[in-house]
Amino acid sequence: MDDEGAGAFGGTGVARVDSRTLRGVLTRFRCSSGVAKLLRMTGARARKTNTIVIGAGQAGLTLSRELSRRSVAHAVLERGRIGERWRSERWESLTLLTPNWLNRLSGGEAHADAEGFLHRRDFVDYLQNYAASAGTRVRESVEVLAVERHRDGFHVRTDSGNWRARNVVVATGDTDVISRPPQAMAAPPWLVQLDANRYRSAGQLSAGGVLVVGAGASGQQIASELRHAGQRVVIATGTHARMVRRYQGKDIWYWLDRLGDLEQTIDEVPDADAARRAVSLGLSGRNGGEEIGLDRLSALGVTIAGRLEGCDGTAARFSDNLEVDVADSELRMHRLLDRVDAYLDTHSDAELAGPGREAIAPVALPAPPSSLDLVSERIATVIWATGYRRTYPWLHLPVVDCAGEIQHRYGVTAVPGLYVLGLRFQRRRASHFIGGVGADAAFLAEHLTTCGQHRPSTASRPCPVAPRVAPKAFAAYA
Ligand SMILES: Cc1cc2nc3c(=O)[nH]c(=O)nc-3n(C[C@H](O)[C@H](O)[C@H](O)COP(=O)(O)OP(=O)(O)OC[C@H]3O[C@@H](n4cnc5c(N)ncnc54)[C@H](O)[C@@H]3O)c2cc1C
Repeated sequence: MDDEGAGAFGGTGVARVDSRTLRGVLTRFRCSSGVAKLLRMTGARARKTNTIVIGAGQAGLTLSRELSRRSVAHAVLERGRIGERWRSERWESLTLLTPNWLNRLSGGEAHADAEGFLHRRDFVDYLQNYAASAGTRVRESVEVLAVERHRDGFHVRTDSGNWRARNVVVATGDTDVISRPPQAMAAPPWLVQLDANRYRSAGQLSAGGVLVVGAGASGQQIASELRHAGQRVVIATGTHARMVRRYQGKDIWYWLDRLGDLEQTIDEVPDADAARRAVSLGLSGRNGGEEIGLDRLSALGVTIAGRLEGCDGTAARFSDNLEVDVADSELRMHRLLDRVDAYLDTHSDAELAGPGREAIAPVALPAPPSSLDLVSERIATVIWATGYRRTYPWLHLPVVDCAGEIQHRYGVTAVPGLYVLGLRFQRRRASHFIGGVGADAAFLAEHLTTCGQHRPSTASRPCPVAPRVAPKAFAAYA
């Protein structure tokens, strides 16, 4: 379902230009290819549709499919290409850390090797095929510059024309920009600072060693890749989440699924904010899902340091938290593995006959440095793998809190007709995962058609917002 065609544009802050005059000028200067785009940019016309979806990653595409199923006219606007972040904001060699059976989008094809791990490029192909098979028309190279209230709907200004819509769904991703800590400000000026989403490969870096800050899945994988490429690497770690790739003969995601953790809702966790901030599990999908972890990095020759506290001149200072953080991380991992064992004790499933309690060696690391002279250690680059934050400078509606986050419940905001999709723990633990976004997309599409601004004949159906439930002490690993 595409847009409903063009309507008159009543403009907010965009100069109105007579389209015939403009076309005449451009044709005279032989700029016909730019005519359409310029006409749209100048606000000569505004298109109308029921719903604007901003972003064509897995979230936007899945939602588009759900809207089409419900015959809701909509347009998907994407500033880059389909799956842009997987193309240009991930490192070259990245392989998904979730196995293929979890990387299937709702209504999309299953992947050939269910237990395998896709390279990011193959996932981009999958997204493109997914959009094509659903007949989703993505308007690529269209950046949304402003979303404003307009009467009972929205005015959406882009760099390629303007739209009017009754509903807007923000699907611009949970991993928008890297959240650099304040310590970045004190780094010496000659140190090259690179955010993890700008890192491509070891070959891109100038000569010299690398300080990787952050020991989530990205930080650990990048540190490992750089070390394998022969670089001197130091990793500054804070809170991290050690996790074994396989346990009792199964991939760890199998257990997370079996234990019901992926379905766990935000209402079931004692501290929703903490759950949303939890560091990613230290996993990798490279080489068929190899084990990673601080112990393995150390064995490779990576220096493991505590949290980066700051820089004094050329010296990087680290806190003495490493031992505590490692112990804490182990504890949380073992709580999960104990739950797996308890599950096995109570389920007599022949397929799950594991080898009995599996011993996992504790992480043993050399004494960490308390500081490091960046010059004598020849460290030339720091890579910030310190997690992501979101930015919505174009969202001119009262839904963004002082921390910069869109306030919502299950993706439904307080502004009627405005939704968000694809955020971490938006509704369930799997909300921002490839295999988890579909359920949220269906939920929002249902909400939009029953109590959003769709005004269909189904409007008498109740809004699908689940009641609050009491928090449980559930998954202890995050
Ligand atoms: C390094 C890394 C590895 C990951 N690996 C996995 C994994 O193995 N398995 C898994 O399930 N999940 C993984 N994730 C998590 C998640 O699947 C990804 O973050 C995924 O990209 C989220 O998809 P999305 O559609 O929600 O958002 P995005 O992929 O971020 O898509 C949002 C889109 O919106 C566009 N956009 C933004 N602003 C505008 C604007 N103003 N106008 C128009 N368009 C705009 C962007 O260009 C982008 O294409 C990983 C995340 C990271 C960072």
